[in-house]
Parts: sequence; C-alpha cells; structure tokens
Amino acid sequence: MRIGVLAVQGAFIEHENILKNLGAECVEIRKSEHLQQELDGIVLPGGESTVMGKLLFELKLFENIKTRIENGLPVLGTCAGAILLADKIEGENISYLGTIPMKIKRNAYGRQLGSFAAEQEIKGIGKFPMRFIRAPYIISAAPNVKILSTVEEKIVAVEYGNQLALTFHPELTDDYSIHKYFLNVICSRT
Ligand code: GLN
Repeated sequence: MRIGVLAVQGAFIEHENILKNLGAECVEIRKSEHLQQELDGIVLPGGESTVMGKLLFELKLFENIKTRIENGLPVLGTCAGAILLADKIEGENISYLGTIPMKIKRNAYGRQLGSFAAEQEIKGIGKFPMRFIRAPYIISAAPNVKILSTVEEKIVAVEYGNQLALTFHPELTDDYSIHKYFLNVICSRT
C-alpha cells in the first residue's frame, strides 16, 4: 500500500514513521512529479495551513490533490490538514481544498489554551489520547458528515466518505489506532 504524505511543511515525518511501522510504503509529496504515480491514500499533516495552502498552489499540487480526493482517494487530514479540507474557514474569505462541507475555526482555543491534551472516545476507534496544538475546531458540518468525536462539545474528528479530518495530532502519540483505521478505510475501498 502506497501513501502519499504532503511534505512541504509541518509534522509529516511523524506520520511517515507510524505508517511505515504499520507496513505501508510512504512517498513524500513535494512537487508535482511526485504525484505522477498511483497512490492508495494521502496524508495532509499538521503545520501552518496558510503556508501549506500557499505552497499547494505555488508547487502546482493543488488541482491534482483536490481532484484525486474528489474522485475518492482516501485522505487523512490532521490539524492544519483538516483546515485544508474544510470548505469554510471562520472569518476568512478563502478555503483551500474545500472537499468537506464543514466550517472550521483556526486557532480556535485562543493563545493561552493553544496546546492541551484530552482523552476522548472516537467512534469506531475507541478512547484516544488527543494532543491539540494551536488547534482549530469544527464549528459545524453538513448533515451527511459523520461526527466521530467531540471534546467539550466541540467537533474534533469527522469522516466524510473517503475523508478523515482531525483537529488534533495522532502522529504525536504512540497510539497507532487512527492510522490503522485509515489503512483499513483504504483496504475497504480498494
Ligand atoms: N494553527 C495552525 C493553522 O492555523 C494549525 C496548527 C497545527 O496544525 N498544529 O494552520
């Protein structure tokens, strides 16, 4: 199984380490040539969504990735990656890939509460140690978006067909169950 990991900025190596540990092959996506191959899934990591969004355009990755996701390529977007997937960003006129009908708020917990941990149940996965870093939360989502988890009434994980978006960082824990879930989604769709 070959997973593309967007590697232009942010915490991509941690995702690669876990996926490799679980037996997947990882390819780093940094330029458009890297997208000229079959991929079974793609990971959009945490980092800075404004920087990643800009680089997606500048490096000519945007159209290819958006089309592939729209055509059913399984995607895991974490934190900034989830922001890239949202079709609406609170208080901003732009969105990026916009493939999930949901509204997300960036840096939603304010500066003081920028980073925190929580242990919460995720549907289909179980209790998971969540690490939030200058995290967004999902304000609302279309009725056909499945809400997988909330923390203090804020949506932190959703699934929308082939797309999985989390506002926290599963790659910074030693619990691999989310990545396993993602690989299972891929297996069930191919
Ligand atoms: N605050 C970042 C943003 O707005 C997201 C933080 C993260 O990915 N850890 O893009």
